[in-house]
Amino acid sequence: MIIVVAPDTTPAQVDHICERIRELGLKPHLSQGEQRVIIGVIGDETRLQTQPLAAIPGVEQVLPILKPFKLASRQMRKLDTIVEVSGAPGTAPVKIGGGHLALIAGPCAIEGEEILAEIAKGVRAAGANILRGGAFKPRTSPYSFQGMGEPGLRILKDIGHAHGMPVVTEIMDPRQADLVVKYADMLQIGARNMQNFDLLKEVGQTRKPVLLKRGLSASVKDLLMSAEYILAEGNPNVVLCERGVRSFEESTRNMLDLASVPNVKGQSHLPMIVDPSHATGRPDLIPAMARASVAAGADGVHVEVHSCPEKALSDGPQALLPEQFAKLAKDLEKLAQVMHGSFH
Ligand code: PEP
Ligand code: MN
Repeated sequence: MIIVVAPDTTPAQVDHICERIRELGLKPHLSQGEQRVIIGVIGDETRLQTQPLAAIPGVEQVLPILKPFKLASRQMRKLDTIVEVSGAPGTAPVKIGGGHLALIAGPCAIEGEEILAEIAKGVRAAGANILRGGAFKPRTSPYSFQGMGEPGLRILKDIGHAHGMPVVTEIMDPRQADLVVKYADMLQIGARNMQNFDLLKEVGQTRKPVLLKRGLSASVKDLLMSAEYILAEGNPNVVLCERGVRSFEESTRNMLDLASVPNVKGQSHLPMIVDPSHATGRPDLIPAMARASVAAGADGVHVEVHSCPEKALSDGPQALLPEQFAKLAKDLEKLAQVMHGSFH
């Protein structure tokens, strides 16, 4: 850590800053410039991360060297993390990251057995490797369909596994953990809950892979700090997901920040995928943005697919048809070959 001392600071104040650093068990190293004093702090920087150093008189700026998201950072682990999502017993886990592409597809909400089976068959044939579907839906209106709850979870698991896919579904509340863990192979934390710290700690105590979506107005650093919560509880299986952020643009549902993919991957070893469905809200834009995501280095995509969007109970207008997804999946496999040399 480097401390920049304000220009009019007295020698007694500089001594006081150094004294505080020593009290905290670290060593100050003074550099006297022509106009400024800079203090390099030598020792375990994590000890200082919770200290209000900027409140010491004379401290102008505190510049950390380490990232505040220690476990999630590339400084901690150079190699890409590969997260494994296991489905039905006896089937090979689906790998995400390190050249392994996640093709997560399915309806916004689980609506019933027959319709989910039809969609699952379609996306599996198209190349999807994980089936998605919400049983607990975070809807903007309390009068909108809220999801099927436990019966929906059972249907998701049975149908996903019957079609050879592990399943991912959203958990909205720490009190749902036992229930959702019983059925889900991967736990989704939705955009609205990215900073629900109790929920992050709860899923951190399981060993289920977690799909952590970026919050509607969260920075890349906020996203990585939320991942850190899960990792700090001992669950290393975190996959990040860009899903667009709120903006002034009205023609798309959100603004897709594709730069976040190489931005995050430069700073973190965790896999990152993109959800172009919630990011754009428009089937005419989803394929192009999905392709761009893989070209930007994403480890997969998360796409809403429905066999009859006009009858969907949630997010029908942004759903791709299975045949549209099939065409997209082929393109993504080709792109992944360009990006990673081979497609797994
Ligand atoms: C979803 O994936 O169903 C969802 C609600 O997404 P988000 O949390 O990104 O809005
Ligand atoms: Mn949705």
